[in-house]
Amino acid sequence: MKNTSSILPFLPDKIELIDTHCHLDMDAYQNDLDLVIQRATDHGVRRIVTIGIDAASSREAVRLGERYPNIYATIGFHPHNASQATDRALRQLALLAENSSVVGYGEIGLDYVKNYAPRDVQIKAFKRQIHLARELELPVIIHDREAHADCLALLGACGPLPKGGVMHCFSGDRQLAEEVIDLGFYLSIPGVVTFSNARMLHEVVRTTDLRHLLLETDGPFLAPVPHRGKRNEPTLMLHTASMVAEIKQLSLAEVAQATSDNATRLFQLSQRYPA
Ligand SMILES: [Zn+2]
Ligand SMILES: [Zn+2]
Repeated sequence: MKNTSSILPFLPDKIELIDTHCHLDMDAYQNDLDLVIQRATDHGVRRIVTIGIDAASSREAVRLGERYPNIYATIGFHPHNASQATDRALRQLALLAENSSVVGYGEIGLDYVKNYAPRDVQIKAFKRQIHLARELELPVIIHDREAHADCLALLGACGPLPKGGVMHCFSGDRQLAEEVIDLGFYLSIPGVVTFSNARMLHEVVRTTDLRHLLLETDGPFLAPVPHRGKRNEPTLMLHTASMVAEIKQLSLAEVAQATSDNATRLFQLSQRYPA
């Protein structure tokens, strides 16, 4: 891969970014994962939350969390894989949650774009996993594609979640942003914010206080400009953070500090980087 560091925005010393949503177990990273993580650390993206989408990726996330001190894991069945969320599979995830690298439950939710699982199956798996997350005392990571109303209704119906959560890869409007914040959730802003046609997301970022925002790559997907269409990786979140800073007319350091504090609080991350 071409070295792109020369065009990356520069993060001041002692300020870190946290990539709150990446899929480090995916094939896209299998040949150079050590380099991807090292490059991120070198550029100030010091901590990464790697997200489970099924039984195997949840196990792999935990394995990565054990192997790297700055990687944390989440576990869960993505709506695409909702039909795999059987009693037995959920019991196994609950056991996996005992590992200290597990900091969240997800990604769970509803995806009405791809509909890889029938909607009723998605809804059932979502509900059960919200309850399991509460039992396990973990914050939830919500995936919501074109399913805003049902996601909100289900979260509301399941009652308060003391550990809170995040609407990852936020794609709604201001109104939805307010409703999500009222639930006590964070909004996580992906690289999409660097796309010039993402006007609704620009508006959400502009009007939402930094204390409600997290940043993510959703790597290997959704690479920010100027890497749109290529593999995404945690280092490239610098472009996302600078765009958020530009929209909010703040410094990159302010955005990095606030969003990292939010991520540390939500996921109760123990280790502080730089050490
Ligand atoms: Zn997702
Ligand atoms: Zn994801």
